[in-house]
Amino acid sequence: MLVVMKAHATEEQVRAVCEKIELLGYRAHAMPGAQRTAIGVTGNKGAVEPGTLEEMSGVQEVIQVSKPYKLVSRDVKEEDTVVTFPGTDASFGGRDLGIVAGPCSIESREQAFTVAERIAKAGARFFRGGAYKPRTSPYAFQGLGEEALKIMAEIRDRFGLRIITEALDDESLELVAEYADVVQIGARNMQNFSLLKKAGRQRKPVLLKRGMSATLEEFLMAAEYILSEGNYNVILCERGVRTFADHTRNTLDLSIVPAVQRLSHLPIVVDPSHGTGKRNKVLPLSRAAVAVGADGVMVEVHHDPDRALSDGMQSIYPDQFDELMQEIRQIAGILHRNVQEPRTVPATARAGR
Ligand code: PEP
Ligand code: MN
Repeated sequence: MLVVMKAHATEEQVRAVCEKIELLGYRAHAMPGAQRTAIGVTGNKGAVEPGTLEEMSGVQEVIQVSKPYKLVSRDVKEEDTVVTFPGTDASFGGRDLGIVAGPCSIESREQAFTVAERIAKAGARFFRGGAYKPRTSPYAFQGLGEEALKIMAEIRDRFGLRIITEALDDESLELVAEYADVVQIGARNMQNFSLLKKAGRQRKPVLLKRGMSATLEEFLMAAEYILSEGNYNVILCERGVRTFADHTRNTLDLSIVPAVQRLSHLPIVVDPSHGTGKRNKVLPLSRAAVAVGADGVMVEVHHDPDRALSDGMQSIYPDQFDELMQEIRQIAGILHRNVQEPRTVPATARAGR
């Protein structure tokens, strides 16, 4: 259910309605918008008796939301959600595209710094790198764990990049939430509901990857789990789904971008690295992602991909990343979006090995 406040409702009126909702045993989610505030009501098993709320001052109307997802829906919040990082010019969902780049896994301090320097110089504002890796084989490299998180925290300080890394389970979530700027929930965990709830209870933004066989509705419901716990800063990520096609690792479903944007206010980025599994397809599909209206891209970059400990085949070289940035910058311009300019990396950064 949704309580729509009048355009000029005061903060006290909004607060009073929220208190009433909580008193009735439900959870209130106030979502301020440009025109008006809407308050999402969750925790109700059936329809809430609207009478008591409808009569309260400042209330315009009480609507039963028939869609299964509520808080992620544009019914609750019409305007796009912009996820910002105070004190920085990094964001997702606004005019600037959120560009995330970095190696699949953090392998060593030297490897991470080498790639991060190039990422920062090319103009990306987000650095990715796995510390805890969900690998198909238990014998494959599992990630450096907390050591990798420490390396990434150093990279944030040196290069001014926001850090995105995956939490695999409850234990790693706590550490990731402590060190990183964005907590990534991977495709294999998209329906790990207890992990989603836990990610909703911590305060860092969450980048939620689409499960390999998830429908649009399942994807949005997974995001709803996070919002329902009070964390409204969720970034969706399309990373390809399983199909019969065998010329790529996954089939990158770019059509989900406008489909999500129609239904939800949350930003959505595209990962053409996992989406194709092939280095030579990352650049064309990044262009396509921006052209289709994605709010950003996430790509794997490695300076020596032949020796990468994970996903070398789909990792592009730093020079290719430079080219990618130049090309998507032009495409973004046509769509009145923006890819931030290359930056000069502080001299001290180069000495930091
Ligand atoms: C990753 O980003 O390195 C990763 C493991 O992605 P996904 O969960 O999409 O497979
Ligand atoms: Mn990877």
